[in-house]
Amino acid sequence: MNTQTPQSWEARADAHSFYGFTDLPTVADRGTIVLTHGKGPYVYDVHGREYLDGNSGLWNMVAGFDHKGLTEAAKAQYDKFPGYHAFFGRMSDQTVMLSEKLIEVSPFNRGKVFYTNSGSEANDTMVKMLWFLWASEGQPQRRKILTRENGYHGVTVVSASMTGKPYNSVFGLPLDGFIHLSCPHYWRFGKEGESEAQFTKRMAKELEDTIKKEGPETIAGFFAEPVMGAGGVIPPSKGYFQAIQPILKRYNIPLIADEVITGFGRTGETWGCETYDFVPDAIISSKNLTAGFFPMGAVLLGPDLTDRLQKAAEEIEEFPHGFTASGHPVGCAIALKAIDVVLNEGLLDNVRKLTPLFEEGMARLAEKKNIGEWRGKGLMGALEAVKDKDTKTPFDGSLSVSERIANACTDHGLICRPLGQAVVLCPAFIMTPAHMDEMFSKLDSALDKVFAEVG
Ligand code: PMP
Repeated sequence: MNTQTPQSWEARADAHSFYGFTDLPTVADRGTIVLTHGKGPYVYDVHGREYLDGNSGLWNMVAGFDHKGLTEAAKAQYDKFPGYHAFFGRMSDQTVMLSEKLIEVSPFNRGKVFYTNSGSEANDTMVKMLWFLWASEGQPQRRKILTRENGYHGVTVVSASMTGKPYNSVFGLPLDGFIHLSCPHYWRFGKEGESEAQFTKRMAKELEDTIKKEGPETIAGFFAEPVMGAGGVIPPSKGYFQAIQPILKRYNIPLIADEVITGFGRTGETWGCETYDFVPDAIISSKNLTAGFFPMGAVLLGPDLTDRLQKAAEEIEEFPHGFTASGHPVGCAIALKAIDVVLNEGLLDNVRKLTPLFEEGMARLAEKKNIGEWRGKGLMGALEAVKDKDTKTPFDGSLSVSERIANACTDHGLICRPLGQAVVLCPAFIMTPAHMDEMFSKLDSALDKVFAEVG
């Protein structure tokens, strides 16, 4: 029993909460921000301070923090049927309706849906589906998974292995058989004198060379975010998906779009794959699926994978996989409402309306001498801080420039996220032009302050 009760919320957070993805020196220095509630795109801390959340939570609170329609949908479903599973041939009516709706709004003319509690679990589930499928089709050696450097797919053992970030080495990951291809970020990785088209061609060639080297008969699938999110908001180089998809098809390798961030409107279309004009074999969804009001993920299978997986499952009489809360009725009721709110109540329209303002604001800030580039799509964007704009030389890592910018933003009442040497904005879809002005003017002041210190 703890006999010492620390007085402040910050100390209480430190005493009993083990932080994840949190810079411990920053917390030690500045204290944890303990939040109590939200209103529209704002959140409020225990001291009554207001923050405009430029990241809409973790990219997911797209309808803001107090959407009445969503809380009412949740309350109504809690009153009616507060929980059930989707095992043993039973599932809630809400689950049935959500699967119908998801396939209706998907790029697939038919398909099936499997539910999880998170994006990581949805990626794990998809990998297990691929392993199950290939084994059932007599190719059990098809187990390798292709992803990209800087791709982010989650934190479970498999999805962390898929993630192309060096920090997973502290866990002894990735597991064998998870192969990371180059990141298709032309500005950073294009060679001297190489055009964007040539760069894209090089990315495609690397994919084909890798497939040949590893042996196509050993590869289970390829996963890609339409726009890399947690890797630093990196849109693909021009023509990337058009260049790689025929290669994957040639070797019979399914293309899985991880749309955990890009799904439901973030890039200005319902799906990121629509924005980039390709149809994948399956889609991984989470986050916006419930507008952040319920932890839920989903695997949306296109027609080919649906048929093949159905056959594989029928052969052994079941697909032996599922979570206690897969297809939770409250989550499904919230998701049905969230999809309606985004697609039919003007949120997607607002994304399209705000995008030019967002681009203008980012382009204006990118004129600063210590911003190397701004990049993004729809309402997701990043500003890359550099020591030297012409040579694209980054700041010395020990300066923690992006963390300083994020901290200066917090001091101004704006939440934004440091990622590498970039700061990321990913606002809620309910923002107004006035919110946009506030966001950019606060970020502007924060950038000036930090660049005056380090630039
Ligand atoms: N895939 C992508 C593209 C993501 O951005 C994330 C989370 N940021 C995940 C998967 C993992 O989702 P979760 O945190 O819900 O496990």
